[in-house]
Amino acid sequence: MTQTEPSIFTRIIEREIPADMVYEDERVIAFHDIAPQAPVHVVVVPKTAQYRNVVELAAADPELLAHVVAVAQRVADELSDGEFRLIFNNGESAGQTIFHAHAHVLAGGLTEGTLGSK
Ligand code: AMP
Repeated sequence: MTQTEPSIFTRIIEREIPADMVYEDERVIAFHDIAPQAPVHVVVVPKTAQYRNVVELAAADPELLAHVVAVAQRVADELSDGEFRLIFNNGESAGQTIFHAHAHVLAGGLTEGTLGSK
């Protein structure tokens, strides 16, 4: 198997690089996105690096995916009004840049018709 560099998210989990943390437990970590796309933009990341995207995560560990969703709700409750948009970029042409499964939690006054650019 080809050895790959740890992802930025693994380096954040390992505390090798800093992040603005909002939640952590034994399975996931959540922190503010460095380039926010909404008033609240938090990334929820499973600690395991074995899933490259949400499809792999959902197939292998649906319970962990459900936990990611529950943590997204918790983040939205704590940082906004409890309502949120949950985004999983899946693949380069969909905007994925870090191939360590993660969810984007966007909240705080989103408007209709802003899901993506045409
Ligand atoms: P994606 O494009 O779906 O792979 O999401 C990766 C996200 O990670 C982007 O929204 C980046 O802004 C964010 N990001 C990259 N590096 C960092 C970092 N050091 N701390 C917080 N967020 C980061």
